[in-house]
Amino acid sequence: MTSMRTLMCGEVRDDHVGSTVSLCGWVARRREHGEHLAFLDLRDHTGVVQCVVDGAHDLRSEWVVRVTGTVRPRPDGTVNPQLETGTVELGECTVEVLATAEPPPFPLDERAGDVDEVVRLRHRYVDLRRPEMQRNLRTRAAAIAAIRRSMDDQGFLEVETPLLIASTPEGARDFVVPSRHRPGSFYALPQSPQLFKQLCMVGGVDRYYQVARCLRDEDLRADRQFEFTQLDAEMSFAGQEDVLEAITAAVDAVVRTVRNEGIGEVPRTTWREAVDRYGSDKPDIRFGMELVELTDLFSETGFQAFRAGSIKGIRHAGGSESTSRSRLDDLTETCKRWGAKGLVWMRVEAGDDGGTTLVSPVAKFMSAAELAGVADRLGAEVGDVLYLVADDWIRTTHVLGLLRLELGRPPTHEGGLRFLWVVDFPLFEDVDGATGRPVPAHHPFTMPHEEDLDLLDGDAEALLRVRSQAYDLVLNGWELGSGSVRIHRGDLQQRIFDLLGISAEEASARFGFLLDAFRYGAPPHAGFAFGVDRLVALLLGEENIREVIAFPKTQSGTDPLTGAPSELDAPQLADLGLRQVPPPG
Ligand code: ASP
Repeated sequence: MTSMRTLMCGEVRDDHVGSTVSLCGWVARRREHGEHLAFLDLRDHTGVVQCVVDGAHDLRSEWVVRVTGTVRPRPDGTVNPQLETGTVELGECTVEVLATAEPPPFPLDERAGDVDEVVRLRHRYVDLRRPEMQRNLRTRAAAIAAIRRSMDDQGFLEVETPLLIASTPEGARDFVVPSRHRPGSFYALPQSPQLFKQLCMVGGVDRYYQVARCLRDEDLRADRQFEFTQLDAEMSFAGQEDVLEAITAAVDAVVRTVRNEGIGEVPRTTWREAVDRYGSDKPDIRFGMELVELTDLFSETGFQAFRAGSIKGIRHAGGSESTSRSRLDDLTETCKRWGAKGLVWMRVEAGDDGGTTLVSPVAKFMSAAELAGVADRLGAEVGDVLYLVADDWIRTTHVLGLLRLELGRPPTHEGGLRFLWVVDFPLFEDVDGATGRPVPAHHPFTMPHEEDLDLLDGDAEALLRVRSQAYDLVLNGWELGSGSVRIHRGDLQQRIFDLLGISAEEASARFGFLLDAFRYGAPPHAGFAFGVDRLVALLLGEENIREVIAFPKTQSGTDPLTGAPSELDAPQLADLGLRQVPPPG
């Protein structure tokens, strides 16, 4: 304990009855009991305990006090089974006020969940006193400690890489920091330690890790902040399997610490299969509703809209009753917004012959064989709704993947933890129609699949078929992280830069130091990074990563507590060699 207290509030138990203890904390609640007595709930991060104090004390919510008293059993009929300390109380208390407090800006009990987030963030120091936030902070710390233990045990060395760097190629915008010593020059804040961890491999570190803060200037979402924390790792003389094993061990250690259960064997799927079956490269496999292939059924169709490269369907089991016509119209509009030309829905009803019949505005354009085929493939049963999309493979899978989530996705805290490795990502995401240049799916240091190297000489269609040795870890439909085997040979790297249209000058200006380093002996290496905020949020069943970050930014990227971002005054700007111009537009 400390010189001020002998026990924590939440730790007082029957065993302590008869002993005199000193507790410190905040007044969570005060209830008058007649003229002379008051009940005080005293709170610290371990919990709450009831103290019986002299009613004359002036004590208000959130005042900081030290209470010294004797632990005694609560009188019969006043035991509170909701509280861990509910069988005891502190009697004969002396109370010392250590600090008074203004009334809190919002109630700290269960009503806090309904408080506007900006208000919570503005007074985050008060918000953090809530048991949920304490639980989240402590779980996060335990998760990070477990990661460190696991990585240390696996022989990884923790290395800190710099924050003030030249730009890193992760594909987002950089946050930049002007240099005072070199006016007109800027540092970038790291989007990831990618290039430094590769330099560590050239430097013989062999196995590197870092609990790294990364900064990316992108639009914020529930699972994204400007700054976030990754477990960042890299291994030498290692390939994909080694990385998957090491990362699985680290994630398993976290889950064991937080949930007291292991993650077991993590299933694997290729990118192509993931997109084909779930319409997503980060499939939520907590539920089925898989995309079913129907293209061949319509190879000779008379239905114009179904003369398409890819036709797939999903089955909403038993969905008919709860799905009104206007909901179907809304879903159709939503699918159009997602890029589909339209959405075909079919209600499965009982047929005259005792079988099923598909009821849909477009059923009349389809042959009996086509309808029967659809019902059969999708396993249609009376009361279901079937949804079909016809387009190219990318769009059909994309739209049905989103529809699947819309119709079937369980809430964050349900359905357990379903991890999935997605491997064999394509090397290129797209080929620019105008320039013919491929767009990399990961960063430009990602190693292509050995078997696909020949395709690099091919046309756009061939390029899109090149698989990379890149892999993602997915949990319940969230991308936890990604990594790849890196290119460590200068000639192959040069070829990729050529393909991407990165000129020798540009390559040398942007990553010349890495290419130089490779000339001095680079081991084959591979790595990975996963988001600690996301993992902790999912383990706690939180929808939003802000709940597991002590001082997050709002959705619009501001900090209501400190007022960041804020303007610089004129002398500071001058010092940095900066002049303010009116914002564009
Ligand atoms: N640097 C990558 C990222 O932050 C991860 C990796 O390839 O190791 O996404």
